[in-house]
Amino acid sequence: MLITELLGVVFPQLLDVRIENVFTAGRSVRIQASTQDQDVACPACGFVARRVHSRYERRLSDLMVGGRETLVHLRVRRLFCGNQDCSRATFVEQVAGLTTKYGRRSIGWVACCAISRWRSAAGPARAWPLTSPPT
Ligand SMILES: [Zn+2]
Repeated sequence: MLITELLGVVFPQLLDVRIENVFTAGRSVRIQASTQDQDVACPACGFVARRVHSRYERRLSDLMVGGRETLVHLRVRRLFCGNQDCSRATFVEQVAGLTTKYGRRSIGWVACCAISRWRSAAGPARAWPLTSPPT
């Protein structure tokens, strides 16, 4: 298995970003990444935006890696919508499978938390194991 295939299996949420650095800080794993400067459609009108307004760093809690909390430092772009008739002057690009508007936790982290809460609410029989036993 190639390292890129391994990364795709372990970190599918990071396939569409450029990973620039991975390091530990205390008990956490930090991943520095940026978007890949692809064309992005305005979420309001669908017009493909190419003009960059600014860039900034978002910090997202992501799924644990090796038992350590993981924080993604993701550099994203704010883009101008070039459509004169659109109500949105600018918008921030999102990464499919990773970010949501204003979200401070990755989509995977939120989904994992929701499953965990559901299992806890369902009672001890569903709390563990996370997968079905072999039949
Ligand atoms: Zn627009």
